Amino acid sequence: MKNFKITSFVTISLFLLLVILDTTVGIPLWWYIVLLILWFTIMALGSFNMSWGFYLKAFTSNPTIIQKKIAITFDDGPNPEFTPKVLDILKQYNAKATFFCIGENVERYPEIFKAIVAQGHTVGNHSFSHELMIDFNSTENWLDEIKQTENAIHKITSKKTTLFRPPFGVTTPKLAQALTITEHQVIGWSIRSFDTVIKNPERIIKRITKQLQPGAVILLHDKQSNVLPVLEHLLQVFQKQDYQAVTINELLHEN
Ligand SMILES: [Zn+2]
Repeated sequence: MKNFKITSFVTISLFLLLVILDTTVGIPLWWYIVLLILWFTIMALGSFNMSWGFYLKAFTSNPTIIQKKIAITFDDGPNPEFTPKVLDILKQYNAKATFFCIGENVERYPEIFKAIVAQGHTVGNHSFSHELMIDFNSTENWLDEIKQTENAIHKITSKKTTLFRPPFGVTTPKLAQALTITEHQVIGWSIRSFDTVIKNPERIIKRITKQLQPGAVILLHDKQSNVLPVLEHLLQVFQKQDYQAVTINELLHEN
């Protein structure tokens, strides 16, 4: 939010300066247009880059960690076809992960959600609907989205989550306001697999493994078939390179 406020302050100051100059020496219209385009571009880039901390503070990795620990995160589940298989693979390799669940899916597949929690993985809130236009939500609508998911999770586990991952990785001032009220910690990532765009598992694995480093946070999705070969291969690489797959909570609190 600090960066957002600074950018807004600088833009408004420059705008006022232009207005003052306009009354004395005269300013061409395109100066205003350039200022507006610059402001809009910075706002948009800030929305899409959580690591900038533009509208809110997000945890995207732990660069100070000494141990070879990495957090694998799965978004958009629980999924009836792939989440149980993901859980089997994680169990086989004695790995822990974090699942950012969509509230609607939690309500639809409570047994799978229960299995995630029962196996000792961490769960986080990933909105209730994850609808396409969600990033245009008002603060009130964001609060509804977050609270509905919390209620769905609470019904099953009697617990609340403390972590939130923004749908599409987009942050806005309205979302920031809502999260200040709900007090969720925002979790981003440092390694984006692009597994929803790249279908070929080998290309995804290559993309991830060349960026591996202690404290990294990997983004995957447990809603599609490529997650299975990618996860299996990744955990084999972890074994070879002595990496340990841990939950976000463990990564957050280690130095
Ligand atoms: Zn998502």
